[in-house]
Amino acid sequence: MKSTVNKMGKRKRIALVAHDNKKPDLLEWVKFNRQLLVRHELWATGTTGTLLKNELGLEVNILKSGPLGGDQQVGAKIAEGEIDFLIFFWDPLEPLPHDPDVKALLRIAVVWNIPVACNRSSADFMISSPLMDEEYPRLMPDYSDYRQREIKLS
Ligand code: PGA
Repeated sequence: MKSTVNKMGKRKRIALVAHDNKKPDLLEWVKFNRQLLVRHELWATGTTGTLLKNELGLEVNILKSGPLGGDQQVGAKIAEGEIDFLIFFWDPLEPLPHDPDVKALLRIAVVWNIPVACNRSSADFMISSPLMDEEYPRLMPDYSDYRQREIKLS
């Protein structure tokens, strides 16, 4: 597939999302990486963001709670090119009412080729990458063939 280049700035726009059983994990991870994270623009779903703000005093843009549309808001921002990076600690042991939204968010992150970490070790590797402090030419799949595909109406 053809691709175009979209430059990710030095200051990344990072979305943070954690399911309830994973919130302690995310909070701990953010606390540990605070100095690195404050250099970037932070976004989060409702409850995750409120915890980050209240517990850690972080400046974070807070969207709706995940099950109330927040996951879809993050997905829409990725599709609009407004989020560069997703830290999403989802819970592999619990079915949730918004499982379709979770799947949709993970899918859209792949569609637009943005980095995603779904657990702490992946997040550790991502945050310690030298690319965090550099501009990064993200390859974006060129979906023009898909957009221009022929639809048979009869
Ligand atoms: P929350 O949403 O931060 O509002 O809990 C997270 C999620 O469940 O997707």
